[in-house]
Amino acid sequence: MSKILILGLDGLDYYLSKRWNVKHILQRFNGTFDVSDISILYTPLIWSSILCGYNVEKRGYNYNTAVKKSLGILGVFYNVKRKIIKKRTPFLRTMLIKLGLLKANFIMPKDLRKDSFLEILKNKGFKVYALEVPGYNEELNGKYRLKMHDIVTAKISIKKKFIECVKEDSLRRLREISFALEGYDVVMGYLPLPDLAHHLFYHSIKSKIFMYGLYRWLDSVVYTTLLKKAYELGFTVIILSDHGFLMERNTHSPYAFWSSNIPLVIKTYKDIKNQILKIIRK
Ligand SMILES: [Zn+2]
Repeated sequence: MSKILILGLDGLDYYLSKRWNVKHILQRFNGTFDVSDISILYTPLIWSSILCGYNVEKRGYNYNTAVKKSLGILGVFYNVKRKIIKKRTPFLRTMLIKLGLLKANFIMPKDLRKDSFLEILKNKGFKVYALEVPGYNEELNGKYRLKMHDIVTAKISIKKKFIECVKEDSLRRLREISFALEGYDVVMGYLPLPDLAHHLFYHSIKSKIFMYGLYRWLDSVVYTTLLKKAYELGFTVIILSDHGFLMERNTHSPYAFWSSNIPLVIKTYKDIKNQILKIIRK
């Protein structure tokens, strides 16, 4: 049986990775896979669909139900508010964030979550570790999602400071994931980069240079902190994104990224679960 490491890099674009030669992240085998049948290319929905091997929207977990579920008890309050006050209420939103009531973390409903390959492997008796996987067990990602939307029109210096903070957290996550390699059979971790930076830096030469630097930084820290050790310990390594990024249009692309140190056949997000279960069976 091969041990397996899955690293999720949100919004990592295949063609930019090739152009900017992030050779460690590209590993030996790589390609794109299709996510276009998910009607809203929203991060938690795509990761949930990757984990389950089917389109979770078709099982009732779509953008609206996901947002409502993420609000918990506030969901009821929000519906009432929307009926009484039609326009947006940024003050209320800011207050809820400050009070820690609005979190924007997304976890699938239980009946879908049990179909995720992480739960299936856990039930088969494998030691499974998961860190901040959207749709599965994320706790901090929502905070960054909210903050990113708040500073889309802010000064460059504020955006850069925010990305520095996300980089710091990403490095901390990489260390934790790396530590887990020592005690687990299946290790999955997720970073909210480069997606958060793509949304803030997209329309100028300076933005391109910034993104180039970020891809290069990711390539270096992912290798030194995590991949090197994973290879040494004999792990099969799969790196995935949930979608790429079309910089000229400032939007998610309908294809995503995969790479591995072993040959895999991944044409759509629906193939990933089976490929992983097959590797573990060997
Ligand atoms: Zn995004």
